[in-house]
Amino acid sequence: MKNWGYSIHKDNQIDLDRNDTSVYKALILVEPSIARCISCGSCCATCSSGEYTSLSFRKIMIQISRGETKDLYSNLSQCMLCGKCILVCPRDVNTRNAITKLLQILTTKN
Ligand code: SF4
Ligand code: SF4
Repeated sequence: MKNWGYSIHKDNQIDLDRNDTSVYKALILVEPSIARCISCGSCCATCSSGEYTSLSFRKIMIQISRGETKDLYSNLSQCMLCGKCILVCPRDVNTRNAITKLLQILTTKN
């Protein structure tokens, strides 16, 4: 087959009826403000850690709402809990508390 220099991405479809979204459900109970997240990315743009690591709160919110928790703990562990993301969030999401609670949920779950 001819190599065109690009390839087709792996299928990224998910089955929401089958995926385990228990982490998202547990988080929304203790930090209801996450329901207001619109995935705008302002938190990532200002993130002290995200500039040097793979940490992205926006991506984490999308992943857990889809029931995807692979590498979640190691990603979250890169957060310095500086709170800059809270200051810029247009939807008043308590991001720092969400991260702290998420780490607790993942610790008790595993
Ligand atoms: S800034 Fe707020 S609304 Fe925007 S992605 Fe981050 S948490 Fe969600
Ligand atoms: S609290 Fe964490 S996620 Fe928010 S800006 Fe600071 S390092 Fe980034």
